[in-house]
Amino acid sequence: MSDLRFHVVETAFSKRPLDVPAPAERPTSYFADHVFNREKMFRYLPLDVYRRLVDVIDHGAPLDRSVADAVAAGMKAWATTLGATHYTHWFAPLTEGTAEKHDSFFEHDGKGGMLEEFTGKLLVQQEPDASSFPNGGIRNTFEARGYSAWDPSSPAFVVDDTLCIPTVFIAYTGESLDYKAPLLKALRALDRAAVDVCHYFNPDVRKVVAYLGWEQEYFLVDEGLYAARPDLLLTGRTLMGHESSKNQQLEDHYFGAIPDRVAAFMKELEIEALRLGVPVKTRHNEVAPNQFELAPVYEECNLANDHNLLVMSLMRKVARRHGFRVLLHEKPFKGVNGSGKHNNWSLGTDTGLLLMAPGRTATDNLRFVTFVVNTLMAVYRHNGLLKASISSATNAHRLGANEAPPAIISSFLGEQLTRVLRQIEESPEGVSLQLDGKQELKLDIPQVPELLIDNTDRNRTSPFAFTGNRFEFRAVGSGANCAAAMIVLNTAVAEQLVQFKHDVDALIAEGCEQTEAIIEVIRRCLKACRAIHFEGNGYSEEWKAEAARRGLDCETSVPLIFDNYLRPESIRMFESLGVMTEKELRARNEVKWDTYTKKVQIEARVLGDLALNHIIPVATAYQTSLLTNVMDMRRLFPGDRGVGLTEKNVELIEAISRHTAFIKEHVDAMVEARKQANAIPTERERAVAYHDTVVPMFDEIRYHIDKLELIVDDRMWTLPKYRELLFIR
Ligand code: ADP
Ligand code: MG
Repeated sequence: MSDLRFHVVETAFSKRPLDVPAPAERPTSYFADHVFNREKMFRYLPLDVYRRLVDVIDHGAPLDRSVADAVAAGMKAWATTLGATHYTHWFAPLTEGTAEKHDSFFEHDGKGGMLEEFTGKLLVQQEPDASSFPNGGIRNTFEARGYSAWDPSSPAFVVDDTLCIPTVFIAYTGESLDYKAPLLKALRALDRAAVDVCHYFNPDVRKVVAYLGWEQEYFLVDEGLYAARPDLLLTGRTLMGHESSKNQQLEDHYFGAIPDRVAAFMKELEIEALRLGVPVKTRHNEVAPNQFELAPVYEECNLANDHNLLVMSLMRKVARRHGFRVLLHEKPFKGVNGSGKHNNWSLGTDTGLLLMAPGRTATDNLRFVTFVVNTLMAVYRHNGLLKASISSATNAHRLGANEAPPAIISSFLGEQLTRVLRQIEESPEGVSLQLDGKQELKLDIPQVPELLIDNTDRNRTSPFAFTGNRFEFRAVGSGANCAAAMIVLNTAVAEQLVQFKHDVDALIAEGCEQTEAIIEVIRRCLKACRAIHFEGNGYSEEWKAEAARRGLDCETSVPLIFDNYLRPESIRMFESLGVMTEKELRARNEVKWDTYTKKVQIEARVLGDLALNHIIPVATAYQTSLLTNVMDMRRLFPGDRGVGLTEKNVELIEAISRHTAFIKEHVDAMVEARKQANAIPTERERAVAYHDTVVPMFDEIRYHIDKLELIVDDRMWTLPKYRELLFIR
């Protein structure tokens, strides 16, 4: 008996045959092991401190100094177990990246020695020099102080030797200088407005959160080749380069087998992301050669956005370990697809409901229709502003091209939902909308769910598409901070929900029954926002004309698109919901225009340098060798024979002269256009001038450079070509 027991114990625990490898560590065993999440808070904080911190996180309760001190001590104790020696406030200024300034935990111990310390004061607030970040003139160097303040709703994490604390970044006078502060305000406004509307359907709802699931597209390029392309290095995109004979025409890359080198990169990236608590889930090849995608499971919007910023910086780091550079630019290569970052967005309640998902009962579906229609209405009212939120010098190369969402915001709903909404819009008032005895609507909505789940009729050309239980905002750029789009979308929907509640309550006050009132207001919204709903091909020329007739924003100049932020209805919306003041909006627009100008300016300089230092000298050298050949041939074969034999080379010599002359003239003209634009004193007009006079020359110059690439001896061409850059071996 005892032998038998011993035998069992032995086989189970000690006799694992040596040739069977121990099971690999499962992702669940290391997920978030570098994150100060609730589990770690519970372990490292006294119980009362833990409870108060959770109250701060979940209900926005105020945080007092003693709690902050205790949290800081616990956080440091945990971080040092991972080897952290430094800490940083981690924030997203109005650039595309994140900012961090590392300080060690070192402090004087008062006895001539040093100790490691982290106090609540350091956790809660810091004072980076705000004048060195884009601030649109809110700060000048005389009063340069801004401060970063802890965002307890996004957990701290450890990267390398540093404890990173997500923070907002604010001017001393209170204006936000980052993306996170207005995002948090927008999410709070949305929460309040959506909870109020939810109460028509379910009085238990206490909190509504916005969810964000981003899909990050990117390119990988071999590091050596990247280093030999000054344009990629300095601007993130190729400013020249003839299309490769083969690129994506065979459609053989999308979902294709992932090359080993790339798979190794992805694996390491995913492990690092998982350790930092980013629930990465999906990886695949994208349409263009060397283009890939990474997507996590969706999360609460603010956290999801922090995670996206984190992943973008992880990508850059991990790529270099594998001999790659990652390109997050929206259009690194001409002639193949660009990269976007679809923002899947929806709303959910603390009672576990997804508000954009149809349900099983009529009430559920009325709630579903309510939120979908209010979203449509918000997108309609602010379609120009939504476009502004995703516009940038870099994304401009992608939008409107024949692959990505067009530069007009419209919404696709799919056949079933369209039918349901039409039925509501067209139903005679007060007839089919009565509730019957079983509290069911005599409206065909209950049949929606099964049909919608199967969203086979996906329309890839729509910038804002309904996909079963969420909307997918597809116009966001791959390099962008999603917060820009999420601030506008969440604020616009909040504003619309406030209006909706106001209108429904007014009808109820007039004696209308609640369900009837809701349906009536939905019907009015549907009539009002018809223009935003478009099921057709968003890439077509007819749509551009049709959209203009419908009064949608069709502007394509990025600096002018930014004007949408300063329209009276935009300012009213942001101010009434407490998201941003007019002063902040004006300052942020200055930054947008200035960034636009600088990006174009840098590209113009790089293009000019490359044209004059690489292209023209190489083309001229090749031309000289052709000339020598022609003269030698003519010496060897005098008279007509020699002329005949050298005819083709003479044509090439002439062609090279034509191209180089054009390039030189236009580079000079571009310098002149820049000079004139630089003299313009206001940010907006300068950006407009850059857009109107400098940008158009890029393609013209490039055309001639790319022609030369086809003529000149391959051995002489100094820049790696598309066929080399685009195919990882
Ligand atoms: P696609 O087929 O659009 O490429 P992916 O699987 O690549 O889909 O990405 C879909 C994204 O949408 C994921 O991040 C996923 O978590 C997210 N998502 C799914 N449901 C929701 C939802 N209800 N709200 C927000 N995001 C969601
Ligand atoms: Mg995808």
